[in-house]
Amino acid sequence: MKIIDRIQSGLTLSFEVFPPKSDKPLEPLLDTLDQLYTLKPDFISCTYGAMGSNKGRNLEVVASIQSSGKCEALSHYTCVGNSRQDVLDALADYQSVGVENLLALRGDFPAGVTHTNGDFLHANELIAFIRSQTNAFSLAAACYPEKHLLAESMDADIDALLKKQDAGADFLMTQLCYSVENYLRFLDSARKRGVTLPIVAGVLPLIKKDGLVRMTLSNGCSIPAEVSALVGRYGESEESFRAAGHAFTVSLVQRLIEEGANGIHLYTLNRFEDVADLVYDTGIREKPQTNR
Ligand code: FAD
Repeated sequence: MKIIDRIQSGLTLSFEVFPPKSDKPLEPLLDTLDQLYTLKPDFISCTYGAMGSNKGRNLEVVASIQSSGKCEALSHYTCVGNSRQDVLDALADYQSVGVENLLALRGDFPAGVTHTNGDFLHANELIAFIRSQTNAFSLAAACYPEKHLLAESMDADIDALLKKQDAGADFLMTQLCYSVENYLRFLDSARKRGVTLPIVAGVLPLIKKDGLVRMTLSNGCSIPAEVSALVGRYGESEESFRAAGHAFTVSLVQRLIEEGANGIHLYTLNRFEDVADLVYDTGIREKPQTNR
């Protein structure tokens, strides 16, 4: 099933996982996926490694998700390192395992690289190329509530978003954003400029102080004062920070839903325990009753 059809029938719940390195076993991730299925997600996405690394594992992971019959698989796919022929081969591979949903990205550049080293420079070109070849896929594109770190301005980044929409993207998935105010400002600007696509909000649960700092800084995202205060108050105790971070993330997700997000996409970092309570405590899914 195409994810865009699910989105059109109500709020979606989804998760992101990453594939293990080529020389590592798949089983630990398969166990995590089995746990994630119990939360009844609409889809699970799998990242695509920089410069095409872990390509094989990406396909194995999305094939496993799709064949589980528990939810749809969405594969990330990037311009980086890929020629037109590589894209055609990848589309055939995804179709052969039943995957109908792709997140089309430019891709992260490994250190020192400043070009995609492929036939496409930007995500909109990849989206247009896929659309010119087949209608077999629902296509998502990335968006950045606090602008992409290389974009000169929010306006320039929204120009890029309009190109992805015009090229044929079906829906957008956001970068993490801990500031609801910044998210709403972006939403307002994007809608005023003519971005009409549904938006699935990406949320990285606030679990560890170090993870928060690393992920926000490397992605060019802000740490709002409310979150800095949590670091100041609870940063010395892992347990207290986790509890305070959980309460913050529950309220963030609830605000995003109130403000009309079409879906909530939780970055799991392959850890079930980091998202399970969040799904229940936000009310997105009802906690199953346990027999005493
Ligand atoms: P683009 O849309 O090409 O934008 C990149 C920059 O160029 C932006 O500054 C934009 O404003 C500008 N731009 C865009 N189009 C044009 C144009 N036509 N002309 C001029 N300028 C333009 N990376 C991975 O390697 N693997 C993953 O699996 C992965 N998953 C991700 C999942 C999500 C939800 C998100 C938000 C990001 C993910 N990334 C992943 C990171 C992403 O690849 C990087 O942020 C990358 O730098 C930008 O990708 P993009 O598709 O937004 O690129």
